[in-house]
Amino acid sequence: PETIAVQELANRMAERGADVIKCLMRNGIMATINQVIDADTAELVVSEFGHTPKRVADSDVEIGLSGVSDADSNLIQRPPVVTVMGHVDHGKTSLLDALRATDVVSGEAGGITQHIGAYQVAVHGGQRITFIDTPGHEAFTAMRARGANMTDIVVLVVAADDGIMPQTVEAIRHAKAAKVPIIVAINKIDKPDANVERVRQELLQHELVTEELGGDVLAVEVSAKKRINLDKLEEAILLQAEILDLKANPDRAAQGVVIEAKIERGRGSVATVLVQKGTLHVGDVFVAGAEWGRVRALIDDRGNKVEQAGPSAPVEVLGLAGTPSAGDDFVTVETEVRAREVAGYRQRKERDAKAAAGARGTLEEMFSKI
Ligand code: GDP
Ligand code: MG
Repeated sequence: PETIAVQELANRMAERGADVIKCLMRNGIMATINQVIDADTAELVVSEFGHTPKRVADSDVEIGLSGVSDADSNLIQRPPVVTVMGHVDHGKTSLLDALRATDVVSGEAGGITQHIGAYQVAVHGGQRITFIDTPGHEAFTAMRARGANMTDIVVLVVAADDGIMPQTVEAIRHAKAAKVPIIVAINKIDKPDANVERVRQELLQHELVTEELGGDVLAVEVSAKKRINLDKLEEAILLQAEILDLKANPDRAAQGVVIEAKIERGRGSVATVLVQKGTLHVGDVFVAGAEWGRVRALIDDRGNKVEQAGPSAPVEVLGLAGTPSAGDDFVTVETEVRAREVAGYRQRKERDAKAAAGARGTLEEMFSKI
């Protein structure tokens, strides 16, 4: 069952712990500051303080956000978020570069030139696809380990002249574990020794049955180098996205995930954020992992300053007080006070966890000497 510590509940509401205890007492519950109470009781307390209770699994900061609603009527279609995975040298980087160049909006003039960790291409018909620009299952699993499931679709690159290799198998395993559908890009079909049929047979051995063999896995034969069938690959991605029925509410406080973050000369801490729900605006106050900030500027994947970023948009965020980690969650909050409070709470939690791990270490050392 869902529970929350009294102290944590007080923190989330920005109320004093003693006041929360008093409120509990009024309701016939005797609890200390470190005691855990159930979600129903917590909801009652939150209401009594005049806040809007909102239960969210594992998210520290949403209680008290006003006007947050994900009712069906608010949901709009959002672009799919795609991660490219596959064995080394099978063409992940080449494919990401080639796809980047297919953007129909930017046309010939420049296009998407910024490398911010993700980019979005506009396809014919006005639809868009977001690609995470850091290929490889390491990034994927690191993100997942932090609880960030930001990928809707995995594009598995398999070189037609090489077939399924160890990292291909690993990528398949990771995608399956994350329950993310796989689209296969059979790459390098321009090579004389390309053997597409062999790749299809090998995929079969890993329970990826392509449509040609009677299954439902979409596989597209491409050449990243010669730019063959990139439109077909994009069509397959959009088809898969349609099946997944990807939706998000743009009219709520922004929530997303940090794709990468670094300190840059003259710009301070800069994070690339993938917005997953809501819309992020310049001026918004946010928490990113154990850091917080106020959005000073937003820069898109074309290097343009933008005023806002909606669902599935990758955007560079300036205005951080510190540098978060890739995979950290990103949530806008109402006030700077709250942002500081949540970030502070998380920093304390991190310190405590480190201290606990340290204590365990010394204990283990102690026992090993006995
Ligand atoms: P990654 O390690 O998966 O990112 O692979 P790269 O994109 O770095 O590509 C590895 C090598 O394969 C490079 O020399 C590319 O030029 C080459 N390559 C990638 N795609 C194709 C393709 O479609 N056809 C051919 N002939 N070569 C390709
Ligand atoms: Mg590469």
